[in-house]
Amino acid sequence: MIPLQDFQKRPRVLVAGGGLTAWETAAQVLKLGYEVVLATPAGLVQPVRSLQPSDQALGGYVSGLLEQLKQHSKGWIIEGAQVTAIDGFAGDFQVELAGADRSWNEAVGAIVLAPELSSKGPGSTVPQEASRTGITLDRLAEAFAVPDQAPEAFRSLGPDSYVALVSGLNGSGGLAEMAQALSGALKIREEIGSQVYFFTGNIKVAEEGLERLYLACRDAGVVFFKFEEEQPEFLVRNERPIIRFVDPLVGRSLELGPDLLITEEVHVLPEKMQALAEEARLGLDRSGFLQPANIHLLPYQTMREGIFTAGPGKGPLTPPSALEEARGAALAVHHFFQGREVEPGDREVVVDKGLCTVCLTCLRFCPHQAIGWTHRVFIHPLACRRCGICASECPMDAIQIAGYSDAEVENRLAEIGTRWGEPAASGLRIVIFGCQRSAGTAWEQAQSAERQELDAKKPTLSEVEFIGLPCAGKLDTDALLKALTQGADGVLVLACPEENCRSQQGNTYARRRLGEARDYLEEAGLDPGRLRFAALSSNMVHKMHEIIDRFVEDLKR
Ligand code: SF4
Ligand code: SF4
Repeated sequence: MIPLQDFQKRPRVLVAGGGLTAWETAAQVLKLGYEVVLATPAGLVQPVRSLQPSDQALGGYVSGLLEQLKQHSKGWIIEGAQVTAIDGFAGDFQVELAGADRSWNEAVGAIVLAPELSSKGPGSTVPQEASRTGITLDRLAEAFAVPDQAPEAFRSLGPDSYVALVSGLNGSGGLAEMAQALSGALKIREEIGSQVYFFTGNIKVAEEGLERLYLACRDAGVVFFKFEEEQPEFLVRNERPIIRFVDPLVGRSLELGPDLLITEEVHVLPEKMQALAEEARLGLDRSGFLQPANIHLLPYQTMREGIFTAGPGKGPLTPPSALEEARGAALAVHHFFQGREVEPGDREVVVDKGLCTVCLTCLRFCPHQAIGWTHRVFIHPLACRRCGICASECPMDAIQIAGYSDAEVENRLAEIGTRWGEPAASGLRIVIFGCQRSAGTAWEQAQSAERQELDAKKPTLSEVEFIGLPCAGKLDTDALLKALTQGADGVLVLACPEENCRSQQGNTYARRRLGEARDYLEEAGLDPGRLRFAALSSNMVHKMHEIIDRFVEDLKR
């Protein structure tokens, strides 16, 4: 590993995105004293369109931001450009940018991806045939902004008209869409006077201002229908939308033929940003937004050190939240440059050049893109999150992680074997290999005096030894077998639950290696049930006891 002190971070930040979060992030990063390259599409990309007056005022503030950024001596504003590839490591990235007629590279130390979302049309809660008779909430915002170009159905609305607005039905949409829907309903009531019927599942108000907005809608006369089980039916008759439903309050069947049906819009990460995130292995969540849903990731972190993400790209956000995100992302960048994100060098990862055959297995497996290769393999100290996955996957055992090297784990097992001495006269002996972040925390809690008192009433913890790993992905097949040769009756592997591994797949790799060790036992005529895998979060002390108890019972049998 290159010594950390030899490594200079380039104090230059690339911010990519064309809306409120990106521009505010750029402004905040400039304020913190770094040079900024802002790659932004031509013109401001509207966030999930809000109809709240306070958010529209925010729009005015953001429009003025770009001009301010252009005046700044350390700001490089590139309009009409987007990021197409990312190369290099934390502190020293080469970012490929593409404009209308050229592409070029920018060298930066950190990157913030802050894209706005694209609209993908109405969601699936209202059948397409019915939703086509109306407009979406995004179109409603445009209709209010430019009434001359609004659809006829909107322009002919008046105080005697009926509007049906659908949002949050059957769990659809998020807070941003709810804010958009409530503000739309209120604006129609206040400015046009039409009667508004709001069809929803659950009013989401878990953000500042939403509860107030909901109450304002009710005061203005918006009628809410909340459906929990039986959902309304949307039809089309004579080219008009028809809604059939059972009134959830009084249980009566009703039919409504509104003059205008307004539905939610589905918002997605723009395709090019999604392709970039996949290519750069930054991690996406199940809905295709930036940042995997992983409790171990800090708010602005991606799977790669030095690359941050903020704003609606992580999922639709209201404008005030997007602004908060921008400020948080700028601080995360600052902490990165200050070195606070880097763990102390006591867990150095070292490649033995003599053993390495440059097979590049480690490079393929590293979840954080921390391994590089020129004529030899090297591990980048800023990009490496010291999970140890590469060390366990290396076929030559050429990578060792300080504190968890093969020799150190072997010594620990030998110590346990010596302490245990002769086979236990009664009871069973268990070795647990556990991820330090989850099982390790649960184990520490279990060791507290208070807990021990509680556990004294239970017999199983007395002969259990815990060996912490930086990530379950650092588990070695050899270590599992050695634990048995040191006198363990059974070996338990405790990893983070699926999708909650900080290194994405460390838990999957651990399970695979445990499977291999079980195959060896079976070939040797031993019971593979002596090795067991279980998932555990850091706050599951009780579940850990249950897992151990069940394992002990099964081993006894
Ligand atoms: S996996 Fe091991 S042998 Fe292969 S390149 Fe990496 S360090 Fe070298
Ligand atoms: S696999 Fe883990 S320990 Fe190895 S280089 Fe990547 S981040 Fe570092």
